Amino acid sequence: MPERLLIKNGFVITMDPLLGDVLGDVLIEGDRVAAVGANLTAEGATEIDARGKIVIPGLLDTHMHSWQAPLRGAYAHGWGNADYYENVFNLRESFTAKDMYDATFAAGVEMIDAGVTTVLNFCHNTMSPEHADESIRAHRDNGQRALFAMGMLGSFDELSVDHQWRLDKVRSLHAELGGDPSSLLRLGMAVSSMEFRPIEQVEAEVALARELGLRMTFHQNTGGQIRELHRLGLLGGDLLPAHANVAADDELELLADCGGGISFTPEGEFVGGRSMTVIGRALKAGATPSLGVDTAARTKVDIFGQMRITFTIMRYLQAQEEREADRWPLVRRPGAPQVEPRKMLEFATVNAAQHVGLGDQLGRLAPGYLADLVIVDPGPYGMALGDPANHVVLRTAPADVDTVVIGGVVRKQDGRLTDLDAGDAGAAIQRVRTRVLGEEHPAMPPHLRKVPAA
Ligand SMILES: [Zn+2]
Repeated sequence: MPERLLIKNGFVITMDPLLGDVLGDVLIEGDRVAAVGANLTAEGATEIDARGKIVIPGLLDTHMHSWQAPLRGAYAHGWGNADYYENVFNLRESFTAKDMYDATFAAGVEMIDAGVTTVLNFCHNTMSPEHADESIRAHRDNGQRALFAMGMLGSFDELSVDHQWRLDKVRSLHAELGGDPSSLLRLGMAVSSMEFRPIEQVEAEVALARELGLRMTFHQNTGGQIRELHRLGLLGGDLLPAHANVAADDELELLADCGGGISFTPEGEFVGGRSMTVIGRALKAGATPSLGVDTAARTKVDIFGQMRITFTIMRYLQAQEEREADRWPLVRRPGAPQVEPRKMLEFATVNAAQHVGLGDQLGRLAPGYLADLVIVDPGPYGMALGDPANHVVLRTAPADVDTVVIGGVVRKQDGRLTDLDAGDAGAAIQRVRTRVLGEEHPAMPPHLRKVPAA
């Protein structure tokens, strides 16, 4: 008999269209959900009381550069891409494999603490095979569910000369990790940015990923790339564009046609000054959005925050459209508003699970699905009125995460991590900072500490 865990008396948002919301219990056997319903009993099961709390599927982050965890704040006042390359991205080559371990480990601890049970780690710091190995070892050690997307974009100086070893490494990692969907750690590929690499290189990467059945993602920052991928026969639901702010409506339709979507990183897009309209346009076209933090260098590791910001942005942009079309003051009409808060939860669970290739077994609380869940504690002020999903999307912060279960294992309970130590993560971050930025930092080297004049 596998280990059994029974979550009792919660308000359960299953995100499953057939089950809907349930005032009751979730029974977990092994790493899967066995039952959801009222008054469940299970002899010998460990019980967790969720009375007065909200139970949701574990959240997923579909665009995260875990290696940048020690660089939190380094890009806080960044203005445009040049600042990013100078203060963050170009530090790639200063990170050793050991730094990759510490950074990836710390990022995972913080995410688990914040209710992010799955990450798509877009690892574009693979300066050596050991960088990839150590990142993978960190994922194993912190036990977050992870799609490790091996970065194919090498150093800018070397251009394509260092490409073959990365293709070989993907092949050997695939042999090592296998393709079991229920495994906590899976291999994916972060395809080279099309604007930086010859198309033949991108074609070779996509061909290899498809041969091995790997999910892919890429940075979509330059206009027309989705159309180009389609023209070359490379576009597919297994290739997830991140950001995609410049995607035209016809490109979003091409994505929808192949069952694809986009990973939108609202806080990063917002302060980066990028167009926000893509999220509403994607939804309209039928391309599924999911959400990401992108980088701790700019954004707090907080998917609740990303849901809230996305909802706010979507409402703001649509109200603006209505105003410009002389439909003011606002009145409800078909299609307006486009989203309610609950939709954001769909982005961060159901859609995101599909984006990491686990749409039929992750992202909802239903029998047979992988048992990743989060219990949100509304705290002394109580649950918001109306749909409990509103409380999750608009009023919840990482500090309200009471319990986290990943693959049937309790990783956080009563607001405390069970088998990880946030202090260890903090120490790992400090070690990387000392090694990469120097003893003197204490937070950042002087040239990065300077706040530019207004
Ligand atoms: Zn990114």
